[in-house]
Amino acid sequence: MHAIGHFINGQHVPGKSGRTADVFNPATGEVQAQVALASADELQAAVDAAAKAQPAWAATNPQRRARVFMRYVELLNRHMDELAEMLSREHGKTVEDSKGDILRGLEVAEFAIGIPHLQKGEFTEGAGPGIDMHSIRQPVGIGAGITPFNFPAMIPMWMFAPAIACGNAFILKPSERDPSVPIRLAELMIEAGLPAGILNVVNGDKETVDRILAHPAIGGISFVGSTPIAAYVYATAAAHGKRVHAFGGAKNHAIIMPDADMEKAADALIGAGYGSAGERCMAISVAVPVGAETADRLVEALVPRVERLRVGPYTDENADYGPVVTRAAQEKILSLVDRGVQEGAKLVVDGRGFTLQGYEEGFYVGPCLFDHVGADMDIYRTEIFGPVLSVVRSDSYEQALKLANDHEYGNGVAIFTQDGDAARDFASRVQVGMIGINVPIPTPLAYHSFGGWKRSVFGDLNHHGPDSVKFWTRTKTITSRWPSGIKDGAEFSMPVMR
Ligand code: NAD
Repeated sequence: MHAIGHFINGQHVPGKSGRTADVFNPATGEVQAQVALASADELQAAVDAAAKAQPAWAATNPQRRARVFMRYVELLNRHMDELAEMLSREHGKTVEDSKGDILRGLEVAEFAIGIPHLQKGEFTEGAGPGIDMHSIRQPVGIGAGITPFNFPAMIPMWMFAPAIACGNAFILKPSERDPSVPIRLAELMIEAGLPAGILNVVNGDKETVDRILAHPAIGGISFVGSTPIAAYVYATAAAHGKRVHAFGGAKNHAIIMPDADMEKAADALIGAGYGSAGERCMAISVAVPVGAETADRLVEALVPRVERLRVGPYTDENADYGPVVTRAAQEKILSLVDRGVQEGAKLVVDGRGFTLQGYEEGFYVGPCLFDHVGADMDIYRTEIFGPVLSVVRSDSYEQALKLANDHEYGNGVAIFTQDGDAARDFASRVQVGMIGINVPIPTPLAYHSFGGWKRSVFGDLNHHGPDSVKFWTRTKTITSRWPSGIKDGAEFSMPVMR
């Protein structure tokens, strides 16, 4: 068992608060480490280091800042296997899936290399007589990121890569469930040439988050996690005068039209519904076949595929997915499946009794498939965040569209069809932020931006892409006029723009 501390001013710092949280190996159920939960003094040490280092970093020319990310990308690739193993050991997802988590973050580091181009300002020559006007984008100062357990590499990089490339210092408060990869990511940034103090990792729980939200020296807050906490973070940070965007939970629907290629749609739903044990904010958790015949064909195609899924520890190269993150998550998922049965949904594949020989204490949940789920049921309204797919049968395209539109979440959605007109109408009218057309998990690439609608997000600028440059910088607009004293003689009248 080892102790995980903080990473402040380029150094590993042991935790001194006396408060810790257990870090599990979800595959075996064992406690493998204790992570420190920061005190006010420890957060202050990170803020002091950030405040000291940030002015010189902001004054470093943008190309030099970008070069740190060029070296960083190389280091991430070189350390991929080590990082993926470390990630799987604390999160539980398969090693291949962990590599995907790291690669999606690496792509944001690649995007950050081009940020000097996006941080250029605007210029109007001759806005008035002898007057020029220009806008520049300056860093916010110190940014903070609070991240969830489910993507411990990608989501920290969504935040710190654009923030730092724009000239900010950053304080990352990762999930206390899997804190080792975030610390290693910060260490590698130093190896890539980042000055000490620009990226700090402070571990903690609600107490630490509350101190971050109220800290007067922190200018911008980026949050990703569950919706109740996102709403709380958004309101609290805004009340303290900070810019904030907070990303919450999801219940992503896949609409299956009668003309869809059913074999391909079923394969897509299996990966999107059960990959990473369903612990993805872009997982498909609801399938909506249109018409009774489509629904029968879909369920018939899904059942054998769900029954064939292989659940195992991350060390099993053939596992389709691993355990969920904690015993509490396992219990919550299983009780929601019980609830679905009580509510009258038909559990056509029941994964509740699943155990794995040799790993009896691991946090595994066998795959579950519900048919005949109703829109009024708890299992439809709640984000289950586990390997559970619900089929909600609909009579028409309009009814399917309405289901997605009426749900409180609006992160991602997909439609499976061969008909361009239906796909086009759907993309235009659905009240969701990220749309897949015959693509089950439509996660935008790093140079576009990521974000949902409705109660999946609070705030208005997305992650990565051009939005992230806007979020992590403030606009300053300068109007300048140079009286032509030497060239034309002095002028004393009030300047007006004609
Ligand atoms: P969580 O809300 O429990 O925790 C997220 C972060 O908030 C952690 O760092 C945690 O320490 C902190 N936190 C927890 N309770 C807090 C409290 N009461 N006050 C202040 N801070 C608190 O989320 P999680 O279980 O780690 O992650 C899963 C959730 O994240 C799911 O709902 C998932 O949909 C969501 N998620 C959303 C996106 C997105 O982009 N919309 C992406 C990934 C995950």
